[in-house]
Amino acid sequence: MLQLYNTLTRRKEAFKPIEEGRVGIYVCGPTVYDHAHLGHAKSYVNFDVIVRYLRYLGYRVRYIQNITDVGHLLDSGEDRVLKGAAREQVEPMELVEKYTRSYFEDMDALNVDRPDISPHASAHIPEQIELIQRLVYKDYAYEVNGSVYYSVEKFLEYGKLSGRRIEELREGTRIESNPEKRHPADFALWKRAQPGHIMRWTSPWGWGYPGWHIECSAMAMKYLGESFDIHGGGVENIFPHHECEIAQSEAATGKPFAKYWLHNGMVMIGDSEMHKSLGNFVSLKDLFKTYPPIALRFFILSSHYRSPLDFSDEAISSAAKGLERLQNALFNIVIASEATEADVAIDENKSLDQEKQLLVEVDTAERKFQQAMDDDFNTALALSQLFDLTKQANVAAQMEPSVSQQTLLKKAKEKIEKIAGVLGLQLETGEMDRSEDRTDELVSLLVKLREELRRDRQWGLADKIRDGLNRLAIAVEDRPGGVVWRWTGSKKNS
Ligand SMILES: [Zn+2]
Repeated sequence: MLQLYNTLTRRKEAFKPIEEGRVGIYVCGPTVYDHAHLGHAKSYVNFDVIVRYLRYLGYRVRYIQNITDVGHLLDSGEDRVLKGAAREQVEPMELVEKYTRSYFEDMDALNVDRPDISPHASAHIPEQIELIQRLVYKDYAYEVNGSVYYSVEKFLEYGKLSGRRIEELREGTRIESNPEKRHPADFALWKRAQPGHIMRWTSPWGWGYPGWHIECSAMAMKYLGESFDIHGGGVENIFPHHECEIAQSEAATGKPFAKYWLHNGMVMIGDSEMHKSLGNFVSLKDLFKTYPPIALRFFILSSHYRSPLDFSDEAISSAAKGLERLQNALFNIVIASEATEADVAIDENKSLDQEKQLLVEVDTAERKFQQAMDDDFNTALALSQLFDLTKQANVAAQMEPSVSQQTLLKKAKEKIEKIAGVLGLQLETGEMDRSEDRTDELVSLLVKLREELRRDRQWGLADKIRDGLNRLAIAVEDRPGGVVWRWTGSKKNS
């Protein structure tokens, strides 16, 4: 049974969706004003695995991940999108389009499945206005000079997610003093547009634009209902973003908002959290120049989603090496399991120890994988089990070929690929290389080798090559002008 750590209750809980068999999940998406970085990769790869695992368990999942293209302000009060548009001298929506595409390009490269719906905040202004109106009507929000603020003191449960208390927030030094706010922790639901602010809409309070938090409440409820199962995001979003989402949504509906809150740990470089504002970020497009995206995915999954991920070149390199070992082993397994019948000894019903061991491993692999993932999505443990299975199969692949061994290796390969698939790891088995047809070159090579053997009067070996080629429906003819070869039709039984 799936257990997950719920930030709201601060403990691991058995997962029980609101509606049996279905899961609604909302994850805060990127603000699209620049290229995505490793922090995005960590978050969205992890939630991708969570969604893939829920689907593997048989749930019908609706996965919503928004695109923030308005209202997400920097500490300086500037809108990130407007600032980016000014930087690149383009229309704000041109910027949004460019970086939305860039984001999905990077996620596709990381084999992150696209969310079922990727709603844009700017395309849901009416929904946000309507939600704000409900809050004003219920007296949880108030208007001052064309801006609307949420009154945190009105919502008695404010702070239940982050554990912060309103009294402490008043003393907090980080909160700027805005004379329009009744309480320093009150937050903007709607902001009056200053002259020259391009991204603005009409509202009952005049020209303006929504605050950042309100978009997620409005879009989550639009697509998942007023109460839904899982809300995810980065640990840095717990406060204030998610705390505010809860306050807005639950005050408006009087119902619980999300049942389970999942938070992804940050990427750490040295001692500092990876914040773009600090300037020490690495864009994914840059990283992909050095590391294949699958190695990055593997690196991310090698630690637990809630843990911080320590980024260093050594850490990524060692993950990349681990992945390479896994791929090489799988390659050996595939080759051994597909050896042509001619090479395979007749099965004498002998079951060797290694085979017995592998059989046990194959039979228990999925159960062990589930146990790891059921424990709050422990991908690190799941990966180590994938390694164990692959290692065991690789040992069996080195043995004398036999029918029983091949059958077992095929089963092992299927299991490995199935488990890797849930983790979104498309392991290369060498099939990609082999799909490039090099048969002609290989046959020519053998034919040349046979000629050399004949020149050396090694008739026996030369004939062996010719007979072997004949069995593969390749005729070798010694003509006065030289040796030619051709296909003769289908593979003969011999
Ligand atoms: Zn959000």
